Amino acid sequence: MTIAVVGTGIAGLACANRLQQLGKPVKLFDKARGPGGRMTSKRSAEGYLDLGAQYFTARHPAFMAQVQQWQQQGVVAPWLAAMSQFVAGKLLPSPDAQLRFVGVPAMHSPLRQLAQGLDIHYQCQLQRIWQQDHYWWLQDTTGQDYGPFSQVVLTVPPQQAAALLPAEFSTLLPQQILTPCWAVDLQLTRPSGSNVGGIFVKDPQLPLSWLCRQNSKPGRAGPEHWLLHFTAAFSQQHLEQPASFWQELAAELLARVVAQPVEVAAAICHRWRFAQIAEVAQPVPPVSLAAGLWLAGDWLRGGRVENAWLSGTEVAEQIQND
Ligand code: FAD
Ligand code: NAD
Repeated sequence: MTIAVVGTGIAGLACANRLQQLGKPVKLFDKARGPGGRMTSKRSAEGYLDLGAQYFTARHPAFMAQVQQWQQQGVVAPWLAAMSQFVAGKLLPSPDAQLRFVGVPAMHSPLRQLAQGLDIHYQCQLQRIWQQDHYWWLQDTTGQDYGPFSQVVLTVPPQQAAALLPAEFSTLLPQQILTPCWAVDLQLTRPSGSNVGGIFVKDPQLPLSWLCRQNSKPGRAGPEHWLLHFTAAFSQQHLEQPASFWQELAAELLARVVAQPVEVAAAICHRWRFAQIAEVAQPVPPVSLAAGLWLAGDWLRGGRVENAWLSGTEVAEQIQND
């Protein structure tokens, strides 16, 4: 019988892909218009802009093999730009030996590859999951029911998972909470002349965690774009501020970091309500809240692309072994 996977971020797609390889019929559901979740990039006139995940690293052999396959398929490439850090009011080079990867032409490109050949219901926001006669059922916000399913894999952040489940299960959810992140992309009127790639912010005076010159990534041509991520604490404190607040502040802070005037041609501000989880001390093994009800996602292992992929893949393998 078919298995339902809720969420087409990297955890859901990795899970569904592995289940399909193992010969299990699978159906996916996502409220968004396409795959990606927090790896979704925004299409602009000149190409894609990464507003969520910026790059990923690969340390586990299984994920390294997956990344190699994506490279062969042409949907992932190494990002070799110079890294810097902003510390004590100064922008300093901060070279390291870490290999970083990006999707090409967009962060979500490898996810589109994973989504190929899968049965996916997009623009399908679920509001309820319940069990009846040992089978699982889903209901979307229009009242349409889907099922029966032998198993359900929930890959949505815990705050969103809790809203879908009956109280008897939602109270069993692990307590990991994702914090928000405001992201701002600024298109400049003229090139800054900077050759910086990414900037890790280590200065508590600045409410930013990260800046990135988007054009330093492979496959991103066109006018110069900078992406800024605000810290979780500042994003939470000013969660409901309008886009104009974020745009103005981002322009001011970018000018301060690159130490030159900045003239903005266009801006995109995006609020990620459930962005980031603090480091997870111990990765949580595949979690089953009840027979046939599984949890997966980055939040169980630590908020990184690789961890989300590993989490989804592990649940698929656990279902196979059960
Ligand atoms: P998600 O990608 O969140 O997928 C969950 C999916 O569930 C979404 O597609 C959503 O639409 C869907 N969904 C939710 N509720 C419902 C519902 N009720 N019905 C139907 N569908 C639903 N990681 C890195 O490794 N490197 C980085 O540089 C990096 N930077 C980041 C920057 C930001 C601003 C953010 C937000 C994240 C960043 N991350 C980074 C983390 C990385 O993006 C995540 O770890 C990873 O993408 C999570 O994947 P996931 O599949 O677990 O969850
Ligand atoms: P990584 O190894 O590049 O970075 C891990 C951390 O090490 C960085 O956050 C940074 O603090 C530090 N670091 C790495 N290289 C550095 C350098 N050259 N100079 C100074 N500091 C350096 O990547 P990873 O382990 O795959 O982590 C994924 C990244 O995703 C992290 O940067 C994390 O902050 C980011 N992330 C952001 C959000 C968000 O909401 N903004 C959410 C999840 C993850």
